Amino acid sequence: MATIGQQAPKLHSYALHNYERIPQIQKLSAEQRFAIEVVGRVLPFKTNNYVVDELIDWDRVPDDPIFVLNFPQPDMLLPHHFQEMARVLQKGASREEILRTANHIRMQLNPHPAGQLEYNVPELDGQKLYGIQHKYRQTVLFFPNQGQTCHAYCSFCFRWPQFVGIDELKFAMRETEYLVEYLRRHTEVTDVLFTGGDPLVMRARILARYLEPLLENDLAHLQNIRIGTKALSYWPYKFVTDSDADELLRLFEKIVQAGKHLAIMAHFSHPRELETPIVQQAIQRIRNTGAEIRTQSPILRNINASASVWADMWRMQVNMGMVPYYMFIVRDTGAQHYFSVPLVEAWQIFRQAYQEVSGLARTVRGPSMSTTPGKIQMLGVSEVQGEKVMVLRFLQGRNPDWVHRPFFAKYDPKASWLDDLEPAFGEREFFFEKEMREKFQKTSNSLQLN
Ligand SMILES: *Cc1c(COP(=O)(O)O)cnc(C)c1O
Ligand code: SF4
Repeated sequence: MATIGQQAPKLHSYALHNYERIPQIQKLSAEQRFAIEVVGRVLPFKTNNYVVDELIDWDRVPDDPIFVLNFPQPDMLLPHHFQEMARVLQKGASREEILRTANHIRMQLNPHPAGQLEYNVPELDGQKLYGIQHKYRQTVLFFPNQGQTCHAYCSFCFRWPQFVGIDELKFAMRETEYLVEYLRRHTEVTDVLFTGGDPLVMRARILARYLEPLLENDLAHLQNIRIGTKALSYWPYKFVTDSDADELLRLFEKIVQAGKHLAIMAHFSHPRELETPIVQQAIQRIRNTGAEIRTQSPILRNINASASVWADMWRMQVNMGMVPYYMFIVRDTGAQHYFSVPLVEAWQIFRQAYQEVSGLARTVRGPSMSTTPGKIQMLGVSEVQGEKVMVLRFLQGRNPDWVHRPFFAKYDPKASWLDDLEPAFGEREFFFEKEMREKFQKTSNSLQLN
């Protein structure tokens, strides 16, 4: 195989306690380093030697998009939060006080958006199955216990509460027994999506323990196995030179040979992540197993909020044999004020990029918000009987009947999430709100549509 004669780099992780050891850090000003200390106490910070040496262009720091993707930036905290933490650090406060301050700020950053915690957890014989989410009919999400971290952390990530330790890993599941039993009883489910964190931080042997039970004969209705991962961006050696790389690829082959469609849902935020020889080799090796790679990312201010970046990314992905899948709107949590792109602007960027690529890249859908009622696509801006409106539709709905039914909101160029929007034409609420209220009355009487 292609690994012979190739060096096998070892993963070195960097976080707040050791990032000063990164040689390139010397290029940062004292002010920038202090900002890393301040913001890194509140939001997750982890990077590694591949990101630092191969992806970040240190001559372009602090504007380099991959630097922004991994390293805490001063404006990721609102000024008063920044001041609050800066003061605590400057007076040399105790660890306890720093942590208390961090958690105080964190609780104001909407740590649990989109009803993730309670709404989607299914039950089996009256027992809640933490570690599984079943929101849309065909697809079950599975959070394997050992896959709840990542090779590096994205500064925008909506899963940040689990990385900074304010969530116990309530979502995670140790074994697949319950998953398999749940799937046996739910023959409407065609897809299982392994997610995390990043399931591909696991050793191939551990991952196999989770995946192999899904290949049993009595789960014929389960046709598609998806693995959500950013390993291609953050640690492509996983598929090429790591000691378990070949074992991992053999596991992929086994899944394909068992008659399942294996989809690697790869997260790429910038074309830079596609440029290194090692990621190109990794992609080639995955494709040789018969697995398909589909790509997705949020649209992020300060990282990829431009049409040419997206068009380049989609073109490169198609050229490498991958399938562009989703452009997301960044969730209303954490450093959203820093990354957020309003829906109208995101749609303009999407549309312009879409026009620049051929039909092969137009498999991509978006921009899309993952909200409590469902995945909602911003379709565009239009005018109906003299009123300027935003046109939206569900790509996935908590009620399947909502899907692909266009609906209208008042034009608002600043709105960046569903709960910023108001119905058009003087209507009191959107068509799905009544049903949402009735379904979820027990958990909240003033349901936020986030
Ligand atoms: C996005 C998502 C899925 C998968 O949806 P597809 O449109 O099939 O890719 C499944 N469950 C949840 C909760 C999701 O957010
Ligand atoms: S790789 Fe995915 S789960 Fe991990 S930090 Fe980035 S966005 Fe979050």
